[in-house]
Amino acid sequence: MDLKEAQARVDAWISQFEEGYWPPLVNLARLVEEVGELARELNHRHGAKTKKPGEPEQDLALEMADVLFVLLALANEQGVDLSDALERTLEKYRVRDSTRWARKDGGKDALIDGTGDPNP
Ligand SMILES: [Mg+2]
Repeated sequence: MDLKEAQARVDAWISQFEEGYWPPLVNLARLVEEVGELARELNHRHGAKTKKPGEPEQDLALEMADVLFVLLALANEQGVDLSDALERTLEKYRVRDSTRWARKDGGKDALIDGTGDPNP
């Protein structure tokens, strides 16, 4: 599923209910809540804070998807095309950070354009 389809599916889900989209600051609070749940799971797995006895391990992928769902909802509510925004962000990183990190390929340009071609 690409981001356009993801935004459309989230819109179809939310639009079927009378309540519709939450206001932006409510969505922001929900996003922070979900990021907190993701942080909690990562902290349990990789940090010093271990789980309580009997506390079940959560599904890391689903915690990430919870974050994405709320971000998609916020983008829809705000009229943001996340596919276009991600393209612009990847280009920003390509321009800004192409020489910032040690390359595995010995110095070729960054390839975050999705082509996989080292010489597009
Ligand atoms: Mg969650």
